[in-house]
Amino acid sequence: MKADQARIPQATAKRLPLYYRFLENLQASGKQRVSSTELSEAVKVDSATIRRDFSYFGALGKKGYGYNVNYLLSFFRKTLDQDELTKVILVGVGNLGTAFLNYNFSKNNNTEIVMAFDVDEEKIGTEMGGVTIHNFHELTEIMDPEVTVAIITVPSVAAQKIADKLVEAGIKGILNFTPARLDVPDEIRVHHIDLSVELQALVYFLKHYPV
Ligand code: ATP
Repeated sequence: MKADQARIPQATAKRLPLYYRFLENLQASGKQRVSSTELSEAVKVDSATIRRDFSYFGALGKKGYGYNVNYLLSFFRKTLDQDELTKVILVGVGNLGTAFLNYNFSKNNNTEIVMAFDVDEEKIGTEMGGVTIHNFHELTEIMDPEVTVAIITVPSVAAQKIADKLVEAGIKGILNFTPARLDVPDEIRVHHIDLSVELQALVYFLKHYPV
């Protein structure tokens, strides 16, 4: 996201890709406008939040008219840098890493895993989902300087060392799928997704807070 959009609250910024995806589908189906209620039902965010989110980017829906789909999309495209391709690397081509390489964010055309890394001799030099798997020990030599984002899908014991190496190699953002909590310099952003914790939390909420 660009610096001049820094005033958008983080919680709002996190919802932008969700709005974006829905609006793209609306545009593809030929719809010109959308009400906050319609949006709310589709993306499961309450309409007051949507109206507040949209007010940050000057999109003030008119009563009885709703929001202009094309205007919103062009705004989001700029804000989310949708016109630019963000190249990403992946470390750890196990079961989860393999799934990511095969999926490779093909439904959104602005992020792409361009290189994968592993230490397993049998995997190094092969391809998965059209992406070549390189030796992690050669990371610094072959790293594309344009790449600033990495996905980690290695065993948790290996995660910290890998994070250190990635930071050394110029990575600024890490999507961490291991249960390990990573220690990184302040300027590095880590987003942590622990799938088993998420699943356990869901099961817990279903049991203790039935809707
Ligand atoms: P698999 O069935 O291939 O072992 P998995 O997801 O159960 O998959 P994990 O033990 O979680 O396997 O390891 C994931 C991947 O991370 C493996 O391909 C492994 O070779 C790789 N890996 C382990 N340690 C490192 C490391 N230090 N650097 C890079 N990759 C690593």
